[in-house]
Amino acid sequence: MSDDAPIEFVDLAAQRAAIGDGMQRAIERVVAHGQFILGPEVTELEAALAAFCGARGAICCGNGTDALQLALMVKGVGRGDAVLVPSFTFVATAEAVRLTGATPVFADVLPSTFNLDPAGLAAAEEAARQAGLHPRGLITVDLYGLPAEYDRINAFAAERGLFVIADAAQSFGARYHGAAVGTLAEITTTSFFPSKPLGCYGDGGAVLCGDADAEAALRSLHVHGRGTDKYDNVRVGMNSRLDTVQAAVLLQKLTVFPGELDARQRIAERYAAGLGNAVGVPAMPNGSRSAWAQYTITVADRDAVAARLRAAGVPTAVYYRKPLHRQAAYDDCPRPPAGLPTSDRLAAEALSLPMHPYLTASMQDRVIQAVHQAVADAA
Ligand SMILES: *Cc1c(COP(=O)(O)O)cnc(C)c1O
Repeated sequence: MSDDAPIEFVDLAAQRAAIGDGMQRAIERVVAHGQFILGPEVTELEAALAAFCGARGAICCGNGTDALQLALMVKGVGRGDAVLVPSFTFVATAEAVRLTGATPVFADVLPSTFNLDPAGLAAAEEAARQAGLHPRGLITVDLYGLPAEYDRINAFAAERGLFVIADAAQSFGARYHGAAVGTLAEITTTSFFPSKPLGCYGDGGAVLCGDADAEAALRSLHVHGRGTDKYDNVRVGMNSRLDTVQAAVLLQKLTVFPGELDARQRIAERYAAGLGNAVGVPAMPNGSRSAWAQYTITVADRDAVAARLRAAGVPTAVYYRKPLHRQAAYDDCPRPPAGLPTSDRLAAEALSLPMHPYLTASMQDRVIQAVHQAVADAA
């Protein structure tokens, strides 16, 4: 790619070129065999996903939001129950809770990692009780691809008898203390939305679990709560399946995925070295390896910096401009009385830079230069 090529925020065309003809042939095979729903590629992908991360089972479904809802259905949450969630996340994390009839209760995040602050969980649990709700579990989010603090979060949950669901929509492929995302909580959900680190060519998602009973329940729940077959219904479920074509796409993408994760790590390290003295750069905690769904800096006067970057040909995005406890659909949900100051601050300061495995070194350097210039001009 030439050095002055435009910088893309996410470059799916470059990835398509890297994968080559195999993608076209894989899609054509599905068109030829015609098993568009629950075809052989879906079974093959489920085995490949489980093997990739070391989970017992992988159940593919329609998208990452359904995956969360399915996980909550396995846990049997409903009206009167509370599920603790970070406020600084994509809306689906809280939405899935509401869809089950339960109430999301917001907790704050850490400024260093953007992930759930284990020290804030007790206050959120207390807020749930004060609201007359029964705390049942929590959903961690591995924001921007970095695993949350599972050691402390799982310990808190075990002590209180709460379940832990990991929302790994942004972090499939990441690692924490020697283990892969997919095995860090009792149930893990992920998304294959096109711009996620492992994305398909449409909507897709999966639930990963380490338990035979949970796996059996998920296999039933995602196909209308089926028993021995689709027309034997033993529980109320959903219709949430991954299309066979999407499974074929993902099998092709898995062949380049490990190399892509390495490339994202190298880019993150170059960004950190070049930007650390100008803006807040994301933490790289010892023992963790992010999937780098996003490379997110924090900067004062964020919107002015973003406008200058755009003018310099550097696309950026803001995840997320409004924390969930301030969204109209969720402003009635409990949160600790002291509020969620870190979520509020990050919503004002977070800015995601171009991040994809096909950014050349010179593109990375152009981004770094442009950020320095934009911050200096905005000061
Ligand atoms: C993308 C995302 C989801 C939802 O995934 P979809 O496949 O779009 O439904 C859920 N949680 C987080 C944190 C996400 O980033």
